[in-house]
Amino acid sequence: MELSRRDFMKVSGLTAGGLLLPTRLAAAEEARRFPLHKPIGEGHTICPYCSVGCGLLIATDETGHIINSEGDPDHIINRGGLDPKSVSVRQMSISDRRLSKVLYRAPNSDKWEEKTWDWAIAEIAKRVKATRDATFEEKDANGVTVNRTQAIAWLGGAANNSEDCYLAQKFARALGLVWIEHQARI
Ligand code: SF4
Repeated sequence: MELSRRDFMKVSGLTAGGLLLPTRLAAAEEARRFPLHKPIGEGHTICPYCSVGCGLLIATDETGHIINSEGDPDHIINRGGLDPKSVSVRQMSISDRRLSKVLYRAPNSDKWEEKTWDWAIAEIAKRVKATRDATFEEKDANGVTVNRTQAIAWLGGAANNSEDCYLAQKFARALGLVWIEHQARI
């Protein structure tokens, strides 16, 4: 059968359209099942939960409340992927359960007491000094100089930035700590 150039273009167009149709139908079905409220507008931000720093697209309503969050497909770190934790960023933004004051429970007590930050910082410093003074080792069992305490550990968080970590390392090492860890590794 002779196929003219015009016939060839028609057949090619029909074939391509037929191949694309299932994809378009699937996309339309997905949009129906998971409406994204896009007309309200989106902003770019970074997931607050860890130092991986995944990019988020956040949609808010007219009062500024988050109504949707999803991975930013253009972000160089995550390319649209997200873990379930970051999808819950809306809950964090509206939660009234976040602690905004220092709460202290004394040994053997069953009650939490509200304290000031000044009290908490002084109390932590006092206990760190007392523990270090009581447990500091200048030499180990073989006579090797170690200048350490193994009674205090330092645990960092994944949201600490490079400057936080630098200062934390300097401070912890200066105290003679050897158990210095990072929450994402344990
Ligand atoms: S918590 Fe998950 S989504 Fe958020 S920055 Fe870390 S890896 Fe990315």
